Amino acid sequence: MKKILIVGGGMGGTILANNLARRLTNELKTGKVRITMLSASEKHMYQPGLLYLAVGKITPDELYRDQASLLEPGIEFFVDPVEEFKLDNNQVKTKSGKTFDYDYMAIATGSRMFPEGIPGMVEGAETFYTEDTALKMFKRLQSFEGGKVVITVGVPHKCPMAPLEITFMLHDYFKDRGLADKVQLHYTYPIGRVHSLENVAKWAAPEMDKLGIKYDTFFNIKEVDAKNKILRSEEGVDLKYDLLITIPSHKGMEVVEKNGLGQNGWIPTNRTKLNMEGRDNVFILGDTTNIPISKAGSTAHFEADTLGENLAAIVKMGMPVREYDGKVFCFIECGKDRATYAMFDYKNPPDPKAPTKAVHWFKMAYNKLYWISARGLL
Ligand SMILES: Cc1cc2nc3c(=O)[nH]c(=O)nc-3n(C[C@H](O)[C@H](O)[C@H](O)COP(=O)(O)OP(=O)(O)OC[C@H]3O[C@@H](n4cnc5c(N)ncnc54)[C@H](O)[C@@H]3O)c2cc1C
Repeated sequence: MKKILIVGGGMGGTILANNLARRLTNELKTGKVRITMLSASEKHMYQPGLLYLAVGKITPDELYRDQASLLEPGIEFFVDPVEEFKLDNNQVKTKSGKTFDYDYMAIATGSRMFPEGIPGMVEGAETFYTEDTALKMFKRLQSFEGGKVVITVGVPHKCPMAPLEITFMLHDYFKDRGLADKVQLHYTYPIGRVHSLENVAKWAAPEMDKLGIKYDTFFNIKEVDAKNKILRSEEGVDLKYDLLITIPSHKGMEVVEKNGLGQNGWIPTNRTKLNMEGRDNVFILGDTTNIPISKAGSTAHFEADTLGENLAAIVKMGMPVREYDGKVFCFIECGKDRATYAMFDYKNPPDPKAPTKAVHWFKMAYNKLYWISARGLL
């Protein structure tokens, strides 16, 4: 029997497990294969929904489903996070003290924001990358009556479009509350343009100009002086704010760092084969790879499609059949019920078009369809 172990029950792990279960239905039935998933939570969160939670457009319960309900029959699922990776023995040890063996393992443990890395940020800034912080941010927004709102970005972070989206959504939020004239939005970005993807930056800067949103580039966050409400950059700029909103820089999960699998929790990963460098039976997908592409759910999804096909082929005929081409697809909410999208891969850069209402409504539909997508059916 071949044992496939999937560590992480988020976007990447779930889509991979379901993809494999469908490709290996017969092998699962006849006991030739076992697929086991270990995760840290019995709930599955639709993280893109946090953006809408932060501006009061949805309620927290809409973010969640039971993880077990999303998995194809035949997949073993345990809420028992991995604490130790013993790669030389093809084993992991979990929090409950159990040991799981594998022939093939896929790691998709995701990433976490790390505001603690910047002095004063936890006390001084609002963010929306977890349920608690998104709710706190919404409460703060509701009591805000005007002034300068600074949106500041650290890298790397998951969801490449979130900084732009929250800025445009805040513009709408304040307009809807009749505060457009009393609020000045000011966006900062660490490199010499407003987004890491050049064509997205070329498209977004004029959109910001149109809406009267100011921006500073080459702004790397150094510290937040929460008492005096000043955001300081490594480049020596001091920015006064009345409300500070941040997309903090991210790290991979602590368990990855603790086990020495990768610096800052990013695991060295082959960009097309998706195996962990130096290991041919360990595969990495989603945010936790060190591949220099967007950390997005769609990245995890397309990687899971590739890995599902390859792992099933390895089980059935001993070799993989395709390579990951770096494909990513991201919607970009632009405010005023408009959105656009960016689609790109290793060879082709994105080319976002003018935003439309149709794309916005497609994104709203996708927010519901996600649960079908997580099952790998879309
Ligand atoms: C505000 C926000 C907006 C976003 N918007 C978009 C968007 O519009 N489009 C888009 O494509 N992406 C978006 N994303 C990014 C997207 O959600 C992530 O990139 C995606 O979830 C990554 O998938 P993953 O499988 O790598 O990790 P995750 O989905 O985070 O899953 C990680 C899993 O690992 C589990 N885990 C953690 N530690 C352990 C352990 N020790 N053992 C076992 N399991 C463990 C967790 O419980 C979880 O189930 C957004 C994210 C945020 C926060």
